[in-house]
Amino acid sequence: MTAARPRILTGDTPTGQLHLGHWVGSVKRRVELQDTHDCYFILANYHAFTTRSDKPQEIRRDTIAIVKDYLAMGIDPEKSTIFLQSEIPAIHELAFLFAMLLPFNRVMRNPTLKTEIETKGLGDTYSFGFPLYAVGQCADILAFRPVGVPVGEDQVPHLELTREVGRRFNQMYCGVPTDARDEDHEKLGGVWPVPRAEVGKVGRLVGIDGKNKMSKSLGNAIFIGDTPKEVENKVKKIFTGRQSPTEPGDTGNALFQYVEAFIEDPERVAELKRRYAAGDNLGDGHVKVEVAAAINRLLEPMRERRARIGDDDAVVLDILKKGCARANVTAEETLERARKAAGLHFFQRRLEYGTR
Ligand code: ATP
Ligand code: MG
Repeated sequence: MTAARPRILTGDTPTGQLHLGHWVGSVKRRVELQDTHDCYFILANYHAFTTRSDKPQEIRRDTIAIVKDYLAMGIDPEKSTIFLQSEIPAIHELAFLFAMLLPFNRVMRNPTLKTEIETKGLGDTYSFGFPLYAVGQCADILAFRPVGVPVGEDQVPHLELTREVGRRFNQMYCGVPTDARDEDHEKLGGVWPVPRAEVGKVGRLVGIDGKNKMSKSLGNAIFIGDTPKEVENKVKKIFTGRQSPTEPGDTGNALFQYVEAFIEDPERVAELKRRYAAGDNLGDGHVKVEVAAAINRLLEPMRERRARIGDDDAVVLDILKKGCARANVTAEETLERARKAAGLHFFQRRLEYGTR
């Protein structure tokens, strides 16, 4: 893990378990980047309070479970820094500063927030903290000064907000000219680079309801920890609306998103698509059997690794403690630079962390 490697940051909110959407949208890419990049993975446990403030024990349980899923999926804590948002005070200080640089209406215009309010049935009863999480996420990212953020498509508006506030800060407090190119911000004295969203091949895996994004809080997910039987049963439920194997099918439907995402042999994918589109006696049931088998092939080694980790949380806590210590070094360094830029630096301040 050398400083010369380009840095990336991404992560997950512990609002439930990890699912196939996380794998295709972000985690697969993280596993690939571990050998070439300085990787930071945040567990946004404060942000889980936006919709679950009454269930702190569940947030804690899911946080630990997600770390186990990370390990099962191939994230290596020796190569990557896995850490808790709640242990990094610099993030929250930066969030406060960023909240002053973003017009309220700009935050509320974020289409991902709007979708979440709708799909999670938040109506007009959501907390003040709910939209604030989008501002907090800017700080989660910029505190680590990454060049790239591997995420699913739904996160692009959040990244746009992050890029905006990052630019504004660099321009307002660091003398970066307003017409500077994004890639020049750091060179011109900005505290952080303007980070890019890096969306993977499958930016939005649809859930088994065939409608919404697969989401851990919408009941439409196939989880990394599902058994082979659960996978088969869930895949059977993928809705297509097609009536018979001889009816020409729409290869843009939810089922075929799964075919493309999980069946590895491109020739088989092409053949299935051709026959499905032609109504060449290829039933949804048959395609579903192949999809479920492909998903189970992907998950099997993860299940084995997960079983080896077992129920003991001590190993996870140790990984998090080391990760938080490393993450605090980087985030404190960023905060120090930001405080200097914003005229907030009066004395040297040193936090003690990782001592418990
Ligand atoms: P929640 O429903 O609580 O918002 P989530 O399932 O959307 O949970 P997040 O923790 O918000 O999960 O997202 C973590 C990362 O996984 C983000 O980069 C997000 O874009 C990506 N991701 C989540 N769901 C999908 C999906 N269905 N397809 C592709 N990427 C996804
Ligand atoms: Mg989400």
